[in-house]
Amino acid sequence: MDWPEKKALTNLSSFYLYFADVDQTKRSDRLQARLAAAYRSVQIPELKKRLSPGTVARMESRASRATTLLWKAYPLTQEFALTDEEVRFSVAYATGQRLDMPDRCSCARGIELTMEHTVYCAEKLTRHNMIQDRFVAFARFHGVHTRQNVRLPNQDADARLEPDVIFYPGTFGPVQTDITVINPCAPFRLKHHRNAHKWATTTKKREKERKYLAKAQEKGDSFKPLVFETHGKMDKEIYNLLEMLATRTTFDRGLAVTDMKLDLAVTLARGNALAARTTIARAQRARDSTRAVHPLPAASSSSSTKSKSRFFNRRTKANKQQQRQQQQQ
Ligand SMILES: [Zn+2]
Repeated sequence: MDWPEKKALTNLSSFYLYFADVDQTKRSDRLQARLAAAYRSVQIPELKKRLSPGTVARMESRASRATTLLWKAYPLTQEFALTDEEVRFSVAYATGQRLDMPDRCSCARGIELTMEHTVYCAEKLTRHNMIQDRFVAFARFHGVHTRQNVRLPNQDADARLEPDVIFYPGTFGPVQTDITVINPCAPFRLKHHRNAHKWATTTKKREKERKYLAKAQEKGDSFKPLVFETHGKMDKEIYNLLEMLATRTTFDRGLAVTDMKLDLAVTLARGNALAARTTIARAQRARDSTRAVHPLPAASSSSSTKSKSRFFNRRTKANKQQQRQQQQQ
């Protein structure tokens, strides 16, 4: 946008002088869209100056088409319906509002428990396997054969070097894939650089290629890293794979790329909500046990055995709750 156009679009008196010129009616073509664009180009940088780096990183990470899919899922079928808890988490995560949760996490020296931390501390494997299942289901639906390595919690390093899913499209070589969900706004990432979220996916892709590409090529296979961001962004390799599957649609059977994307967006949101629930539950349990070891005030010291049993009751209660949650998963 050049002067005097820029000035005319951002200043009221210049606007009048510039656009009221009846000899230059062409100037006002698509004026509404240009005004909106000018507003964005001026206001957004201004707004970002006033917000914290973490908030800016979240806003920028969420500026993706795939992120918005979740909020469009509402009118579809039963499988796309999120539970109240999942919606509550998704809204809180989108807006940066804290859920009711302890200040400290139960992991590594009790670091601060933030919303960003809830999605990458615990249950990453379940979320990963949920997404992997969807890809395999899509392939089956389109008659594409697959072989998969399901990740297990206590797997050794060698087993983890195998790709997650290998697709056999038949018309060309097998496609090896590795599924990863990363949090672009994780504090450890932003600590290095305030814009680190912008290249988080690319960094991860390169890392995965170093790990798998040569081995895949040895076999004559291709390799696609499938990188999801916790804020919803999906890398273009994911779309390429979905397009490959969609082209296999025969007659009346098959899914559109948009439906598969939506399915993945919902699965990701569910996986995030589950990760957050587990992280928060563990932090609550840790908080309860540290609270319980504080010495009691003198007045109630006579009932030390009673308070001890109360403490154990509380712990077993928390344990039971967690077990129940794990069973539900
Ligand atoms: Zn943690």
